[in-house]
Amino acid sequence: MDEYKFLKAKFNCLVFSIVILVSIPVHLISAKHPYDHFTAFCKIGERVPGTAGHLVARDFIISSMRNPEVDSFSVFGTNYYNIYKRFPGEEPRIGFAAHWDSDIGCPGANDGGSGVSLLLSLADTLEKNPTMHAVDLLFFDGEDVGGAELLGSRHFAANCLTDYNYIIVLDMVGDKDLQIFQEGNSAKFFPAFVDSIWEIGREIAPEVFVPIVKYYITDDHISLIKYGIRSIDIIDFDYPYWDTADDTADRCSRQSLDTMFRFILSLVYQRPRL
Ligand SMILES: [Zn+2]
Repeated sequence: MDEYKFLKAKFNCLVFSIVILVSIPVHLISAKHPYDHFTAFCKIGERVPGTAGHLVARDFIISSMRNPEVDSFSVFGTNYYNIYKRFPGEEPRIGFAAHWDSDIGCPGANDGGSGVSLLLSLADTLEKNPTMHAVDLLFFDGEDVGGAELLGSRHFAANCLTDYNYIIVLDMVGDKDLQIFQEGNSAKFFPAFVDSIWEIGREIAPEVFVPIVKYYITDDHISLIKYGIRSIDIIDFDYPYWDTADDTADRCSRQSLDTMFRFILSLVYQRPRL
């Protein structure tokens, strides 16, 4: 059995375990479930750049992975920190991105926290279950500064010399009432790719992935697209607590994060070359 078949077989075992046993699968026992990262991360509270909470959140992410890179930069006297975890392998790379900062007055549980928790679990999973192809996990800072200034992703994209197959941005994907429509800008630039991604999503959770455009969102994928990177945004924007003090962990669920994690695993281990 070659390595890919081995990984694929192992992945099928994961899915089987999740679906049938409704528990953390055998090969993920040593990987922390996204919901556990999520609840711990949300206890930090607001993560507004320039505040103490921002630094606590930065250190939480760094300490949750083995040897991540920290790419710091400064804008108008405020320090920002992009954090990257790169797994070597065959190029071109695939990437998953989430922003980790939060807006003023908003704890950012779903908005930022949900994506971070998925990436942290993926980091742990990839450490223990290497793939043949290269994967980057990108934690962007400064997305929610001002009216979505996208500072971290702009900084990343402007300095990016890496060849990516794609980068998928995950934002607001932990809502208890999870339903994800196609994002308009993503579908405008990469219609076939978006359709393929939603087809895979519907194999995992047909009730969650709706193959229709509903909103046009300014998110980190916009920065990446501007610099020629194939990037799309996966976001559930029907979230009444968005940008409010009520965007707290109790608005999200383990089940939603579990669904999204199985979707991501499917991309990483079964369909890396879309
Ligand atoms: Zn966001």
